[in-house]
Amino acid sequence: MMEEREMRDARALLRTVGLRVTAPRVAVLRALHGYPHSTADSIARHVREALGSVSTQAVYDVLRVCTEAGLLRRIEPAGSPALFETRAGDNHHHLVCRACGAVTDTDCVPGAAPCLTPNDPVGFLVDEAEVVFWGYCPDCQITRSAMGELDDLSAQDAEV
Ligand SMILES: [Zn+2]
Ligand SMILES: [Zn+2]
Repeated sequence: MMEEREMRDARALLRTVGLRVTAPRVAVLRALHGYPHSTADSIARHVREALGSVSTQAVYDVLRVCTEAGLLRRIEPAGSPALFETRAGDNHHHLVCRACGAVTDTDCVPGAAPCLTPNDPVGFLVDEAEVVFWGYCPDCQITRSAMGELDDLSAQDAEV
């Protein structure tokens, strides 16, 4: 069964990094597997649906411990609360929609950090480049072009 496999995988991941297997930790990993790039609050909602009452603080603690252990990655695009995902350690990057905030993964082109090097590192030993690609997701492109057409129509009306 799919659910049982996910549970086993989450338990195995926790053991791999030497963390105790607890119900909130398993629930957080499973929630993030299904909903990558989630905020702590939305993860807490999913965890409560799965387990009943779990405090938001407990979820924050799980997120912190699992991020420190390398099981989770935390990203914080400008203007967004911290987002978490289980896809950690592969140096992938993110596309972020300016309109709706949708976040999508995109592979790192060279495949290893740092994928970009500054023209002049001014003596820094660079080990990572964090890249966020900003733009409009496919849905918001459609919405925006539809709104653009509406604007054009009302402008014509005004002229008449
Ligand atoms: Zn969007
Ligand atoms: Zn990601």
